[in-house]
Amino acid sequence: MASKSKPGTATDFFDITLTLDCNNDCVFCPRSELKRVLVPLERLEPLLKKHRGGVVLTGGEPTLLPDLPALVKRCKQLGCKRVGVITNGRRVSDKKYMRALVSAGLDEITISIYSHLPAVHDKYTRKKGSCAQSWLGLRNAMATGIDVKVNMVLTAKALPQTPKTLGMFKAMGLRQVVIIDPVGSQDYADYGGVAKLQDGMKDCSFSYPELVVFRGYPLCVLIPRREMNEIADMLERGTDCGCHLRWEGQHLESAGGVGEKNFDKYRRSVTEGFSKPKKLCSGCPADAVCAGIQKGRKL
Ligand code: SF4
Ligand code: SF4
Repeated sequence: MASKSKPGTATDFFDITLTLDCNNDCVFCPRSELKRVLVPLERLEPLLKKHRGGVVLTGGEPTLLPDLPALVKRCKQLGCKRVGVITNGRRVSDKKYMRALVSAGLDEITISIYSHLPAVHDKYTRKKGSCAQSWLGLRNAMATGIDVKVNMVLTAKALPQTPKTLGMFKAMGLRQVVIIDPVGSQDYADYGGVAKLQDGMKDCSFSYPELVVFRGYPLCVLIPRREMNEIADMLERGTDCGCHLRWEGQHLESAGGVGEKNFDKYRRSVTEGFSKPKKLCSGCPADAVCAGIQKGRKL
């Protein structure tokens, strides 16, 4: 049964990076940077007491923790209204384990899937068989009726098949997919290809999940720079245009309750990988919400 809540509704989630271990070894994994923002388990309870709106347990791979269902249950006992998990989905290919998470009180699960093709997905996870497991995990999650989303880091090899992958998500009843630009990796899909993908999706909203978010791309990749002044008002209100396509900047707002100083270091190390050429960006209405162009890439 698909979830009934509206996809993309505003959430007050607080991300908690619990472990840096993972059973995948993705070529674009940010774990080396996240080392500085890991939250030790013993600091979890005081944090949860402060953030009772909603928490997202993430990693690394949080399902590798010895007893994630017990942690989910504890979050609920401490008063968290919504508890989510971000996972590569492999562990939830075990139906019983998926159900245990839901019985513990899990409200939302986000699964990372890069393609429907094992040759592509497994190439980027560097783990044979991970594609099949993640898709099975997705089906198991959908069957529970909780909110399910997919994060799809978009790579060069996955790009040509992406309309088909998104169509498969749609056929399963998935309502929200976030297409993410990998940071600091050579395996990105080029900006021109991403623009074409988005253009192709504009006229056939029925073929794709109800909400497809492009995250981390310069907005001028998706909307020609010359047209951006016309949407300046919309940018002030946020970028929810009410249609099935949406844009979001880089998400670096929270990271598991680490001190502001540590988080600043992480934020700096990511933002240093972007630039804003004066000729292009001067006067851009998206300046405040756009990280810029990844260094070494062309518009
Ligand atoms: S699944 Fe996520 S945490 Fe694991 S290696 Fe891939 S990107 Fe990193
Ligand atoms: S700030 Fe620069 S890179 Fe970002 S959308 Fe505007 S013109 Fe494009």
